[in-house]
Amino acid sequence: MDHLPVFLNINGKRTLIVGSGVVAARKADLLLRAGSKLTVIAPELGDELSMLAERYDFTHRQQELRASDLAGCVIVFGCSHDDDVNLKLRELAADAGIMVNVPDETESCDFTMPAVVDRTPLLIAISSGGSSPLLVRMLKARFETTIPAAYGRLAEFAGSYRDRIKKLIPNSRRRRRFWEAMVSGPVAEHLFSNQSEQARLLMESQLEEAAAAGDKPPGGEVYLVGTGPGDPDLLTFRALRLMQQADVVLYDRLIGDGILNLVRRDAERVYVGKLKNNHTVPQEEIGRMLIELAQKGKRVLRLKGGDPFVFGRGGEEIEALSEHGIAFQVIPGVTAASGCAAYAGIPLTHRDHAQACIFVTGHEKDGKLNLNWDTLVQPRQTVVFYMGLTSLAAIAQGLLDHGAVPSTPAAVIENGTRAGQRVVTGTLRTMVERTAQAEIKSPALIIVGSVVTLRDKLSWFANQPEED
Ligand code: SAH
Repeated sequence: MDHLPVFLNINGKRTLIVGSGVVAARKADLLLRAGSKLTVIAPELGDELSMLAERYDFTHRQQELRASDLAGCVIVFGCSHDDDVNLKLRELAADAGIMVNVPDETESCDFTMPAVVDRTPLLIAISSGGSSPLLVRMLKARFETTIPAAYGRLAEFAGSYRDRIKKLIPNSRRRRRFWEAMVSGPVAEHLFSNQSEQARLLMESQLEEAAAAGDKPPGGEVYLVGTGPGDPDLLTFRALRLMQQADVVLYDRLIGDGILNLVRRDAERVYVGKLKNNHTVPQEEIGRMLIELAQKGKRVLRLKGGDPFVFGRGGEEIEALSEHGIAFQVIPGVTAASGCAAYAGIPLTHRDHAQACIFVTGHEKDGKLNLNWDTLVQPRQTVVFYMGLTSLAAIAQGLLDHGAVPSTPAAVIENGTRAGQRVVTGTLRTMVERTAQAEIKSPALIIVGSVVTLRDKLSWFANQPEED
């Protein structure tokens, strides 16, 4: 991060603005709304500041800037049209160790002012560090339209219960669940429809119920969540919701940072990744961890690349859970075949090319591919190989040996749906060499069938130039 976002309590504290124009007035408005004791130094107040002076009290000094003006200030702003004045303020502030903002010179500022969506006491501050004010304005507009004004009421209502709830529900996990239910349940709905009395009554009865449960930790649960092949935009809403309420997350190699960053920030993170032929955490151990964590009352998030039930061993992991009577949910994800095919512009089925699509694993067991080759070489179908990169030569040879035409189109997609996606296309005869030449690495998916030729017309997702 280039900046540290903080919310300053400047209520009753001194601040200073040098300048009198529109920008000065905008800063003054925010400072005064936050309760600051503001001084403005300017020869004359402009129209906007004069209007503010009708609503708020602040000191206006018609004099030159002096070091003593900064005394006791927490932050100061250089909004003068005269660069020399702003420079002088910067120097005085540096001497006094006070943070300074000059709106026209964001790079040399100690701090910048974010765009603000104000639902007091709820505040959303947005900044791009000066790199794209347009994007910031767009996001602000989006929040302004999607976050109802009533959220302020909700935050205020919640604030008024905080201390009591802390006392009545001493178990922190149980308390968090209470809050979650409150902000997304009927209490919030009452507040949104301005029925604060009903909200209060309902809150009281729910609180009584929760308090009766005493200090007991809540029951645990496991969420087996498919995250899709990598692009975080491909997560489902349900996946995102569960990711944001988990207490602990177990993830492996295929889960990228873009997705992990969406998991609740203070959830504990456990890496249980498996590197090829180097099973860091055996499957049974993962199963055991899921059970133990859930038995402690935690909400355990098990993230799986793609779909948990497609070559994900998801079935095995939850089998043990069900034997131990632990509650679980399984959330599907976009499997690598769908994700990679879509982002590579290769339809898996097509009326003119393929009426069926088969997903198989190209993972070798004891150095051998154990596949039903006759099914795989049937006409008018697409075959997708997961985990097939290292056995690509054996796959191509196996298909040819069982009657596939050497000119059968094929594609290998590396890092499908991610920023570094690469696609290599060719035929069963040329694929092995082309893939080696392009130095394709895992994760990679192989698609075999005439649908691959449609990529020429249907490719849309920018990827690095491929070898031809
Ligand atoms: N459950 C996952 C598959 C896990 S097996 C799913 O439904 O997608 C792991 C294999 O999936 C990898 O060897 C690779 O063949 C494929 N794979 C997963 N993510 C991929 C990606 N982003 N790009 C290409 N292949 C991917």
